[in-house]
Amino acid sequence: MSDSTVYKNVLKQLDNAAEVLNLDKQVKELLQEPMRTLTVSIPVKKDDGSIHVYKGFRCQHNDVLGPTKGGIRFHPQVCEDEVKALAAWMTFKCSLVGIPYGGAKGGVLVNPKELSRNELERLSRGFIQAISPIIGPDKDIPAPDVYTDAQVMSWFMDEFSKIKGVNTPGLVTGKPVVLGGSFGRHSATARGVMYTVREAAKAIDLNLNGATVAVQGYGNAGSFSAKFLSELGCKIVAANDSKGGVYCEDGIDAVKLAKHKKETSSVTDFDNCQELTNEELLTLDVDILVPAALENQITKDNADKIRARMIAEAANGPTTPEADEILFKKNIMIIPDILANAGGVTVSYFEWVQNLANYYWSKEEVDKKLEQIMVEAFEKVYNTHQELNVNMRVSAFIVAINRLTEAMEARGWVYHEDKC
Ligand code: GLU
Repeated sequence: MSDSTVYKNVLKQLDNAAEVLNLDKQVKELLQEPMRTLTVSIPVKKDDGSIHVYKGFRCQHNDVLGPTKGGIRFHPQVCEDEVKALAAWMTFKCSLVGIPYGGAKGGVLVNPKELSRNELERLSRGFIQAISPIIGPDKDIPAPDVYTDAQVMSWFMDEFSKIKGVNTPGLVTGKPVVLGGSFGRHSATARGVMYTVREAAKAIDLNLNGATVAVQGYGNAGSFSAKFLSELGCKIVAANDSKGGVYCEDGIDAVKLAKHKKETSSVTDFDNCQELTNEELLTLDVDILVPAALENQITKDNADKIRARMIAEAANGPTTPEADEILFKKNIMIIPDILANAGGVTVSYFEWVQNLANYYWSKEEVDKKLEQIMVEAFEKVYNTHQELNVNMRVSAFIVAINRLTEAMEARGWVYHEDKC
């Protein structure tokens, strides 16, 4: 996250797809820079009476397909470059899975683990006050991301509703069910990861029964991915978090490990597992590697040592463009982030639709619709990858860019003489 080159990675990914597509210059220009980025200062009264001013951002990358959408993260290394990159990935992700949203992302530079619950609430309300002029159910819809959850979304929704004097559940997604959240949203990112792994395994003839898995990061996306992949028959052999990692050749009970992390705030010291470093986890001889933490984890320095057959990117931006090239040559199947983790924003879309209609769906309905969208998106990306002989990321970008281009042309944002 501290790496100031994350946005450069996005530009390189865009370039790679643009080259294959021979992309229109105007479309490329519109995708190269975000529409707007708001920087805010949030004064927060601490429990001891002192005031601390936090810095935050909300970036709206592109809204050609609809109101912008994307999470808000609370993390000590948030910076403008990172938020811009994450917002751009949301534009491509929403386009890829065919939902009517543009891309956005927000962040506050804070270590939420150092705040009391009351301080966290005041910070959440303060951030929403600060960005309230540019968000709304028809403009820009926040959601959870790293270190934000349903509780933070509840405060966001409540604060915005008070500012506007109108109850506005459609302002954010990822709310608890009691406040208009959707069944299945909490685990949706991981459920989407599971569907795409299942489809990818069919494509490369990988038997998931007993397939070994290593999970980097054991937050929402990582822990639920481990659970759902176990349910498909996979064997979770390693997992880690910012405090360390665990390895067990015989397999780890994903649900027990999540409980252990909840109780002790880390995956370390679990059962009879061995300890392992982050680098050891990434380079384990496993069938599937699930990076579910932060950006820039698989780089030119370690890509050569990766031994997994498949990488399912539950995190945003875990692989750098240089690493992509190395992995492609090694014939490793990558399910790129904008595809693998799109289940989260897809069920966010379902939540928003339910809020606007004030009519709520069953968990079965949500899961079924999510599965359909993820399978279709996987097929499009996989087929393009095969037809054009490009890597899966380039192919995902191509599918996304084609829809964005069509929308830009329809709105008249780009002009083609031959189409007049
Ligand atoms: N933060 C998630 C992502 O990166 C979800 C965004 C959303 O639901 O709007 O895709």
